[in-house]
Amino acid sequence: QEELFKKLVAHCKEYGFIFPSSEIYDGLSAVYDYGQMGVELKNNIKRYWWDSMTKLHDNIVGIDAAIFMHPRVWEASGHVGAFNDPLIDNKDSKKRYRADVLIEDWIAKQDEKIDKEVEKGRKRFGERFDEEQFRATNPRVAEITAKRNEINTRMAQALNANDLDGLRQIIIDTEIACPISGTRNWTEVRQFNLMFDTKIGSVADGANTIYLRPETAQGIFVNFLNVQKTGRMKIPFGIAQIGKAFRNEIVARQFIFRMREFEQMEMQFFVRPGEELAWFAKWKEARMRWHRALGFGDDNYRFHDHEKLAHYANAAADIEFRFPFGFKEVEGVHSRTDFDLGRHEEFSGKKIRYYDAETGESYIPYVIETSIGVDRMVLQVLSAGYQEEKLENGEERTVLSIPAPLAPVKAAVLPLVKKDGLPEIAHRIKNTLRYDYNIQYDEKDSIGKRYRRQDAIGTPLCITVDHQSAEDGTVTVRDRDTMRQERVNIEAIPALVESKAGM
Ligand code: ATP
Repeated sequence: QEELFKKLVAHCKEYGFIFPSSEIYDGLSAVYDYGQMGVELKNNIKRYWWDSMTKLHDNIVGIDAAIFMHPRVWEASGHVGAFNDPLIDNKDSKKRYRADVLIEDWIAKQDEKIDKEVEKGRKRFGERFDEEQFRATNPRVAEITAKRNEINTRMAQALNANDLDGLRQIIIDTEIACPISGTRNWTEVRQFNLMFDTKIGSVADGANTIYLRPETAQGIFVNFLNVQKTGRMKIPFGIAQIGKAFRNEIVARQFIFRMREFEQMEMQFFVRPGEELAWFAKWKEARMRWHRALGFGDDNYRFHDHEKLAHYANAAADIEFRFPFGFKEVEGVHSRTDFDLGRHEEFSGKKIRYYDAETGESYIPYVIETSIGVDRMVLQVLSAGYQEEKLENGEERTVLSIPAPLAPVKAAVLPLVKKDGLPEIAHRIKNTLRYDYNIQYDEKDSIGKRYRRQDAIGTPLCITVDHQSAEDGTVTVRDRDTMRQERVNIEAIPALVESKAGM
């Protein structure tokens, strides 16, 4: 799997999806640029999310708030001051880690161990296997589970209480070793703030420090009244936003999984107090359905319910996807109570209330948040789609089997030869499609090579113009996944592209 992941990373660069930032200067750690293919894929993913939120829900509207916000916002949100990120250093490798991430990785390893035991059991007992019973009664599974749960609870308690020594003690008790040096020679745990800061105004005359937002959500909270009033929104309703966020992540790993500059797609859904847990359950399921609709296999997703919660939440779950490096979070669904709006009321001194005409009451709404990383979605789509296939004729091909509506290029138009009027026909076909779809025209190299190039970027349809096209107005259309070709009337092409790859 690790080999495969390396190949995927190389593939992303070779075909113009993702490049290291400032590569000619040897790159900038945990920052990446999207190339000509990557940006199309990313835009399609954003559009798929945006439409599913704003077009398919009458009660969800979008905004686009600024990255810079008043510094007080981050005091209200708790990003400045209260809970910062705990760091620990390994004295031998001099590598720095987020203590909670080290422990989370350890917990994930225990989950893998448990899964392995379950698989063994399944093999051993065959048809008679009862997974639930096995998990409850197998002594080895019980032992690992008990230890795992104990550590999980201790970590949540330590994080909530800002207990740095407690965190360090967990790392020592679980005998976590540095992935680089392999030793357990750890320093104490220190607090660190992940927010990037900069100065606004003239630096000379005591300018103010402001932050690059570490999440998009606060832009929604501070605009709650603006949107509610001007849009005459009635609770329950949601506000959606896509935008950049910045975190000075310490452990930059796994390609675009954890970056310092990334993009989020967030939706805050405002509900009546007391109804939040029912809405939380609804959104959890709705978001899982959205992911599964991409067709990457239901088994490749799971929920991770948070047993211990941040102080502002009364329920939280992650949606995890099976990346080549294991199950990892792609999206969080959180029931954040009235914490955020309440804090902004307190810090701004402005009333942030909703008058509910149905109940005759005024209240601070409760919030369900769905928060998903665009880049993690890109990685999900790429790692699910990347395939190396052995063909019947003994050849190999690399294909990105990604959902056609997300594909960067919807169709390629390929004249079989560069003469006999075939390029002209091909251009004409391209021109009928180009206003609605991203289409490529390619006349270089053998047709086989051109098909391979399109497979490698995930183009669902290849339209080939040959000599018969000039005679009877038909072309061949090749399907990326089955590689089957059929003859189709040129007039029927736009409808075919729409049915295959339209959003
Ligand atoms: P993690 O535990 O992986 O750091 P988180 O729980 O801090 O993530 P949230 O603050 O809930 O993440 O952010 C919501 C979503 O934003 C995550 O589910 C993830 O998809 C995305 N995200 C968060 N941090 C990063 C990052 N550094 N790079 C890319 N995406 C990120």
